[in-house]
Amino acid sequence: MRQPLSRELSNLLERGRDRQLRLAVTGLSQAGKTAFLTSLVNQLRHAGVEARLDLLPAAREGRLLGAQRLNQPDLGVPRFPYDPGMAALRDSPPRWPEPTRGISELRLQLRYRPARSGWLTPEIAHLTLDLFDYPGEWLLDLPLLQHDFYSWSQAQALHQGEQRRGLFSEWLAAVEQLDPAGEADEAQLAALADDYAQGLRRAKQAGFSDLQPGRFLLPGELEGAPVLQFFPLPQLDASQEALEALPASSLYATLAARFRYYQQQVVKPFYRDHFRRFDRQIVLVDVLGALNAGPERFEDLSRALRQLMHSFDYGKRSLLTRMFAPKIDRLAIAATKADHVTPDQHGHLVQLLEALLAEPLKDLRFANVPVKALSLAAIRATEAREVTHEGKRSPALRGTTLEGEEVLVYPGDVPSRLPKADFWQQQGFDFPGFRPMHTPSEDLDHIRMDAAIDWLIGDKLT
Ligand code: GDP
Repeated sequence: MRQPLSRELSNLLERGRDRQLRLAVTGLSQAGKTAFLTSLVNQLRHAGVEARLDLLPAAREGRLLGAQRLNQPDLGVPRFPYDPGMAALRDSPPRWPEPTRGISELRLQLRYRPARSGWLTPEIAHLTLDLFDYPGEWLLDLPLLQHDFYSWSQAQALHQGEQRRGLFSEWLAAVEQLDPAGEADEAQLAALADDYAQGLRRAKQAGFSDLQPGRFLLPGELEGAPVLQFFPLPQLDASQEALEALPASSLYATLAARFRYYQQQVVKPFYRDHFRRFDRQIVLVDVLGALNAGPERFEDLSRALRQLMHSFDYGKRSLLTRMFAPKIDRLAIAATKADHVTPDQHGHLVQLLEALLAEPLKDLRFANVPVKALSLAAIRATEAREVTHEGKRSPALRGTTLEGEEVLVYPGDVPSRLPKADFWQQQGFDFPGFRPMHTPSEDLDHIRMDAAIDWLIGDKLT
């Protein structure tokens, strides 16, 4: 008799407490964070009625009664723009939600009926879910904490491929003329920092992902502040000792001081005040977008992801970065926009994602962090069809392009392993961007959002 009673009691205590979960969504820009969070909130709000969430037991069993928005506790964090996002999707023609550019938050209270009943189990239980969305670019700054200005400058010089160098050519030519020992000229520094930031933005637009410092791409409230007016000096030929002995007003010392300030006042506070406090995390990856963009960008995405995932990798941290280790007890990694390929390719898409993240996944599993890889479409924009050509049936997709043209396409086969040179030569990959579909019902159509929700919060709804 004692055993069941104590289990009942601990269930009761567990439910009686103000139960709360901080769930964060990240990914590089364009990965699909805004679409994901809009859909997540939409699915949970309509879980009791319309939303199709068969892979989430609490919803399938009719126990998830819905979700209500509450005021968020962090008054300093902007609210996630759910209503404007939904309004865009309901516009005619429907539009994608405007992407978020910094950290944002939304608090939901979920109502559900516990799975097990007993005399001590409440009829209705609540879970407070704090949802956060922040740019993955900010996580690319973690390695920056392990550098000083000198070693960072050298590291930045290392991975400049030909195409990337081309995007920075003017800036590089101007920086080569600089004398680290010369007096710093404020106006010149601001102009060169701006050129550098523009180079990063060009590289981002060209599909590159491994770009530092992260805030140069998404400055948020720091736009125009002197803390963002620095850049690496890739061609240093003096020794570090000699450079560090230069007076405080020198170009080198000024850039180094701003670099330190950026580390202390921008990167560290994000990790300390937000990142460290997340309970669960989903990392979104636009694998298909990178396949579409070609080999150099695909390789660059792979490098950026390896770097981004270091923030979650507890094993190999330095003492400094271990201070910022999250207490995350569950992680999901998702290839987004799966509706860009036919359903028969979804298995390959997950395999490719796992191949792309093989190293970080190994480290995470070694560190005993439960992690799941999946593919999903937060907001499905295509319908799967079959076409018959010369008596042979093959899968296809029907959708409307961003320009408004109705198309029926077969976008290509997704490789199940990291593509080698011959993949790019022989096959390649090509798909258009799709406009969201007009949705007559309240809930948004999706692919496997329910699987993602189940992995991220399902255990809290039992
Ligand atoms: P963020 O920068 O990470 O917030 O990315 P967004 O959520 O703004 O998504 C970027 C773009 O990807 C959107 O404007 C859409 O064009 C596309 N997208 C995002 N999610 C989906 C999806 O589930 N299906 C399709 N077809 N496209 C998507």
